[in-house]
Amino acid sequence: MTSPSAPPPTSDQVTDYYSALGPLLRMAWGDNLHFGYWEGPSDGSSPQEATDRFTDVLVERLGVGAGCRVLDAGCGIGSPALRVAGSTGAEVVGITISRQQVDQAVELAERAGMSDRVRFELKDAMDTGFAAESFDAVLAFESIVHMDRPTALREWKRVLKPGGRIVLTDTFPLGDSVRQPGDTVGDVASMASLEDYPGLLADAGLELEELKDVTEHTKFTFTRVIDGILRCRKDFEREHGMTVEEVLEAMKPAHPQASQAAGFGASPQVGCLIAVAHKPVSPGPGARRPGRGS
Ligand code: SAH
Repeated sequence: MTSPSAPPPTSDQVTDYYSALGPLLRMAWGDNLHFGYWEGPSDGSSPQEATDRFTDVLVERLGVGAGCRVLDAGCGIGSPALRVAGSTGAEVVGITISRQQVDQAVELAERAGMSDRVRFELKDAMDTGFAAESFDAVLAFESIVHMDRPTALREWKRVLKPGGRIVLTDTFPLGDSVRQPGDTVGDVASMASLEDYPGLLADAGLELEELKDVTEHTKFTFTRVIDGILRCRKDFEREHGMTVEEVLEAMKPAHPQASQAAGFGASPQVGCLIAVAHKPVSPGPGARRPGRGS
């Protein structure tokens, strides 16, 4: 499956995928549904520490503070949104296409006592229905992999105020990988290409500020997810009455290579990038005065 223009998964496919994987992932990995960020091979940070660190790496780039409104597009169960709000003072609206995740995220926000500043809604991030220019920044943390990238980027540009930033992460096949850009991962996700990112952002009318390959930091994720699964396997099976193999089986309709992707077969050769871009500030009247050169 190599078509770069393969249609994005349906909301049911995404929801079923995360419903099947969610409980196991939560137990093995925690509430952040994204890669961990380690300083190097000897960094023994736990999944919680490493995934929170990755959130912090993106928060630094968001450049928001109190009084700002952030859209978290593809918010998972809300852990990054809560961390963004907690460390910056900004208001965050998290959206996901999974009803179950909205409910879990709302519960996390209530438990954290942050429901006044962090809200979650069931919405498609490619067509949010939010008013134009209503957000100061957009965070898309490992979520664009499930979307049609040009459509998502155009929508995020639309809801951003002029000058507002998009900070996102995406995956791409590594050079020695058998995978190609545009390859789908099961039916639920696809990979991008690092080289194509500047064009992708420019085509959406966004100005690139930073494009960074952070694979050296994230590449430990797969083996550590497996360690986590093996560690919690007995507790999971006792609590949920199903085996890890049954979970992988349940994920198969959306993700036929799930058992491989989970590391029980081949090690996935997936790179991770951070992209930062902003919506151009259109020149106001007087930005270019007539008669002063061309
Ligand atoms: N950003 C979160 C979750 C990453 S997992 C975190 O870092 O923890 C990818 C997320 O994207 C899931 O929440 C999934 O439901 C969401 N998603 C996928 N397609 C979507 C779409 N079209 N609109 C909104 N959310 C979507």
